[in-house]
Amino acid sequence: MTNSVSVMSDSASEILPEIIHLKPPVDPAALAWRHLRKDEFWRTIPAWQNVDTETFLDVRWQEKHAVTSPKKLLQTVQDLVPQGFIADVEDGFLRAPMAVRVTPYVLALIDWSNPYADPLRRQFIPVGSQWLPDHPMLTLDSLSEQADAPVPGLTHRYPDKALFLTLDTCPVYCRFCTRSYAVGLDTDQVEKVHLRVDNDRWHRAFQYVGERPELEDIVVSGGDAYRLKPEQIREIGHTLLDIPHIRRIRFATKGPAILPMKLLTDHEWVDALTEVADKGRNLDKEVCVHTHFNHPNEVTGISQDALRVLFRRGITVRNQSVFQRGVNDSAETMITLGRRLSYINVHPYYVYIHDLVRGTEDLRTPVSQGIAVEKRLRGATAGFNTPTFVVDAPGGGGKRDMHSYEHYDRETGISIYTAPSVKPGRFFAYFDPLNSLSQEIQKAWTNPAQAEEMIQTAMAIAKKQAI
Ligand SMILES: *Cc1c(COP(=O)(O)O)cnc(C)c1O
Ligand code: SF4
Repeated sequence: MTNSVSVMSDSASEILPEIIHLKPPVDPAALAWRHLRKDEFWRTIPAWQNVDTETFLDVRWQEKHAVTSPKKLLQTVQDLVPQGFIADVEDGFLRAPMAVRVTPYVLALIDWSNPYADPLRRQFIPVGSQWLPDHPMLTLDSLSEQADAPVPGLTHRYPDKALFLTLDTCPVYCRFCTRSYAVGLDTDQVEKVHLRVDNDRWHRAFQYVGERPELEDIVVSGGDAYRLKPEQIREIGHTLLDIPHIRRIRFATKGPAILPMKLLTDHEWVDALTEVADKGRNLDKEVCVHTHFNHPNEVTGISQDALRVLFRRGITVRNQSVFQRGVNDSAETMITLGRRLSYINVHPYYVYIHDLVRGTEDLRTPVSQGIAVEKRLRGATAGFNTPTFVVDAPGGGGKRDMHSYEHYDRETGISIYTAPSVKPGRFFAYFDPLNSLSQEIQKAWTNPAQAEEMIQTAMAIAKKQAI
């Protein structure tokens, strides 16, 4: 018995019968999700080959060396990229509705020998050659967040919770950002609704929250809460916790996924968050962090060290992913991601079917792909670490369980949802990406009369079937 449990004495183990294993032994290679990289992976990037660990972990160094233009990308990766790639990126920048900003941490995790296929490159760096025309039903603020906002940047859609967009900047910009209507710098393609840090706007938001006793739960987002200064974390945290009916606050930040070193080297920021969480705990209120990992390659030994800081301070971290074609739309990738996150005490919470966002048609997947992957995911690990797949219903229906459609026509790619607790009586349509559909249907979508007819037909069936 090589695996005898250490608490047993030798004599006890001798009298126990040998265990008959019902499952075949596991090949250690199958446990690969536990192998988090701990090498100095950034040294393969020509510009950073002499950067030591201490420098790489310095959040100020990361911010200073973030890549924001094709020129800076070329200076950084130099001869690592294939011929023509930089010209393709320049073309991508011109078409993109989002500004580009990539941290050295993320950039160094990209496989530059094959940047076209790399799941991290696909999320952050647009290339012209992979661009596809938008779905005709796409609008800029597809979730209608502004229509449900009593104060600019405060969306009160659900009965007892609200979303507070505190500012409009992030440490990276994701191509697929749902808030590309507001987040990031203006681009050649989009002039944005700006939501800057503004005392007046913030105070109106706090006042509104104070005047709505039904609100218990506030999502503090942006942009990205990583961008809030420590004193701003304190101001928001203390103000909201002092409102008696507020019971839960979540700080929403992609930071742990793309700039984990901030949790290791920006002590003031972590201390401010901890102070708010501790105050909440003393008031029987939960203060937690919601983050945004999308691919197992984003989880490294650095992430593990960083998330340990929050775990030891008793701060729960949950994860919300966006389901993206060529990034994480396979069961293998999602299972590995879920296990890796669980391993570092981050709970997979949601997977969003990609919203209808401009310039991201190459990243969207049909709802049917989400259904297929979810089926494999459920049962692979603990239920509380199994995310719910949701469609955020375009037009303001809010998040719906992907499976709860009233009707789904896989041929036209139309799924219809209702949202009885959010917008009773209304029907909301989501549209699969055009190039997941047949040539004939794709052509029909480009004809406004036929498009309207397809939508009306789906709506009529949904209305007949709705319970
Ligand atoms: C997602 C979201 C929330 C929080 O929803 P949960 O399902 O509780 O995570 C709140 N308000 C708005 C507008 C949202 O989009
Ligand atoms: S971090 Fe969040 S808000 Fe910022 S660009 Fe990415 S998805 Fe959008």
